[in-house]
Amino acid sequence: MSSNDRNLDPAEIAKFEELAERWWDPDSEFRPLHDINPLRLNYIDERCELPGKDAIDIGCGGGLLSEGMARRGARVTGIDLGEAPLAVARLHAEREGVEVEYLNTSAEEIAAERPAAYDLVTCLEMLEHVPDPAAVVQACAQLVRPGGQVFFSTINRNPKSFLFAIVGAEYVLRLLPRGTHEYGKLIRPSELAGWCRAAGLDVRETTGMTYNPLTQVYRLNRDVSVNYLMHAVRPDDSGGPS
Ligand code: SAH
Repeated sequence: MSSNDRNLDPAEIAKFEELAERWWDPDSEFRPLHDINPLRLNYIDERCELPGKDAIDIGCGGGLLSEGMARRGARVTGIDLGEAPLAVARLHAEREGVEVEYLNTSAEEIAAERPAAYDLVTCLEMLEHVPDPAAVVQACAQLVRPGGQVFFSTINRNPKSFLFAIVGAEYVLRLLPRGTHEYGKLIRPSELAGWCRAAGLDVRETTGMTYNPLTQVYRLNRDVSVNYLMHAVRPDDSGGPS
């Protein structure tokens, strides 16, 4: 299959390929991901109890979340279309003695191969880099078993998020390289919730994630105006109460 037939933007993949070797350096361009990782791991663990779960991490990059979930006792598959981030992820897991299955494939392809195979699907900070995010949401819904859970995170699209997530983070504070995020690709919670419902998922909760540049602390709260997480479940086919 050529890249033209797949739901990927080669320029987006190239951005992450170029930076991949610094993925695990907490002082690199990936610092924001390091800083939010414990928050999102706790958020996921509190809602689905990671030990013993079969999890798949879509757009896993260098493996911060995949490895974190595996350390907490989940059996984890991480998929990405960037070869360099996957190479970094594999090497890091091996060095740390953590077992994760890393595959170079797309969400849609793995969903066709492994339908309903996972208790838990995560797709964090990835949808805003994809040409057709609704198709990725659909693939996530296909991967999760009935009764299982899906977690997304991305960036809202409004004047405030433009100011904070693009101007602030890329130009003023320089937390991220310029051009990391494109305004037009950012996703409103209502849009993501609509794609979830269209894919047969029930949205349980939308949670904001805010950054205080003075204290340099990230927090989870109700302010979804810039960064946010969305928790959805695939209803149980049994027809009983979920
Ligand atoms: N989810 C990880 C990494 C986020 S960075 C985390 O939150 O820590 C975004 C990742 O999405 C990059 O690794 C990039 O290669 C990947 N990506 C971009 N487009 C993709 C696509 N179409 N399919 C799979 N992965 C993609």
